[in-house]
Order: sequence, then structure tokens, then C-alpha cells
Amino acid sequence: MRIDLHTHSDRSDGTLSPREVVLAARAAGLDVVGLTDHDTAEGWDEARATAAEIGITVVPGMEISCAYAGRSVHLLAYFPDPGHEPLQEALRLVLEGRDQRTPRVCAKLRDLGIDIDEVEVARGAGDAVAIGRPHIADALIDLGVVADRGEAFDRFLSPGRPAYVRRYAAPLEEMLGIVQGAGGVPVIAHPWGRAEPSALRVEGLAQLQGLGLAGIEVDHQDHDAEQRAALRGIARELGLVVTGSSDFHGAGKVDHDLGCNTTDPAELERLVALADRVAARRTSPAAP
Ligand code: AMP
Ligand code: MN
Ligand code: MN
Ligand code: MN
Repeated sequence: MRIDLHTHSDRSDGTLSPREVVLAARAAGLDVVGLTDHDTAEGWDEARATAAEIGITVVPGMEISCAYAGRSVHLLAYFPDPGHEPLQEALRLVLEGRDQRTPRVCAKLRDLGIDIDEVEVARGAGDAVAIGRPHIADALIDLGVVADRGEAFDRFLSPGRPAYVRRYAAPLEEMLGIVQGAGGVPVIAHPWGRAEPSALRVEGLAQLQGLGLAGIEVDHQDHDAEQRAALRGIARELGLVVTGSSDFHGAGKVDHDLGCNTTDPAELERLVALADRVAARRTSPAAP
């Protein structure tokens, strides 16, 4: 049983449609694939329809842009009801923050002498609901300014680079409650990806667990072997679910092939059991 719980389609910054992600998941030998676009559930229906056709399982999820202790934290929410109003409202604010950022980044790029405009970025983003820096990177590729997304981030778009603009992210503590209210199960994506955020060491994670955090993504390309071992130890100590995934973005990210990291079936079972419990609590608030 091969399970990959974190992938992106072209509804956010992946390059394949939801249907193509599911077909590619089967071709990669996966039995279960989580579709976790940034800040939207837009791809779920298409992914589930394809999965039903070819006999694999889609775990519906999303990767929500959050902020905690002044830093960006990505929260994976599995099985939330996308119609839950507080969740819709929280996602609306995040998507609005994305939309407000794009023209500001383009203006900074124009100050650098690059002839880019937000209308072209939006056109290039096609079916994407969550417009991000990768779409601006794609426009820079089209203009011949950079060779790939990586170069666009390194030269212009990453924090500290000349076209970086901060955007709104949802307060993590609040989002943990909203996700559970929506019947979802929250898991922190790549907690030590890139820089090791000191707030997400054992004490911080224990505190977040008190607010409903269910698990952490341990096996991710942004974590080296040492970090994975340390995170696995923390998860064991706290009783957090451990997940693993590719964070696949199609052609948008190299070295993130489907199935390059996977989740243990027993850990997925724990997530499903938690989702069932949260759902039961939603329908009858008196349940434990
Ligand atoms: P945004 O959603 O606009 O904040 O942009 C963040 C997204 O950009 C992440 O979800 C990654 O998919 C992508 N990203 C971040 N850094 C890089 C990089 N160095 N190369 C390619 N993609 C990147
Ligand atoms: Mn992404
Ligand atoms: Mn992420
Ligand atoms: Mn991701």
C-alpha cells in the first residue's frame, strides 16, 4: 500500500490538472494520493471522479497558509468540509491576500526594468484559484528573464530578494480550531523545511497539539535524514501522527516526484479515525 498525502494541481501552483495528478499517481504505483492545493478545495471533485474511474483513493485536503510566532507555517487540513463557513471565510482572506500581492510584486519587478504585468500572470495561471509566486515565476520564464521557477525565487521572489512582498496568512492557533470545526484533521507540513523554526520544536508542537494539532509531516524533501529522525522522535514522544509525501507540483518543482516519500498505512488509519471522531462530534456535540 503506497500513500502520498501532499500534492498540488493547477488549481494552485502545480502544473497538472487534478485529473492528471490522479492518473500520474496511479502511473507512479500509488494506491492513495492526497490532493492538497494551497488554500482551496477546488480540485477535489475532478480528482475524486478520476480516482473512482481508475480505482485508486483520493484523500481530500488543502495546504493552508498560516502564520505562527511571526513565521509562515503551512497547515495541511485533511477531510475538512469546504462548505463550513468559518473555513470559507478564512480561506477567502488568504486568497484575497494572494490577489493583492501579485500586482505589488509585478510593480517591484517593473521597477527593476522587467516588463511584466499582473494580467499576463493571471492569464498564465489558467485555472488556478490560489495565485502564487510560482505563477509570477512562470511569467518571468515566458519573458525569458529566468530559466526556471527556482531561479525566479533565488533572484527575485524569496524573502530578502528585491521583488519579495509579504502577504496575509491565517493565525495558526485560530486555524487549528477552524479546521476541526470543519470536521478536518490538521497536520503541519514540512515543519522544519528550509530554516528550522525554533517555535516548532517539541514545546511549541506540544502546545499546538493542545489546540488540536494531530500530526506532522516528517518525510519531506526539505528535511534531511537527521531532521527526519529528530521529528520522528518528537512525534513519538507526543503521540503525533507522522506523515510522508512528495509535495508534488508537476513540472513546477524538481526532485518532488510522486511517491518519493510515503505515509505508513497505520498512520493514515489514525488520521481517518480522527476525522471520524471529529465528524461525530460535529453531528452530536455531546459525543466525547
Ligand atoms: P506563495 O504561495 O506565493 O507564497 O509561494 C510559495 C510556493 O512557491 C511554495 O508553495 C512552493 O511551491 C513554491 N516555491 C517556493 N520556493 C521555491 C523555489 N525555490 N523553487 C520553486 N518553487 C518554489
Ligand atoms: Mn506550492
Ligand atoms: Mn508548503
Ligand atoms: Mn505543498
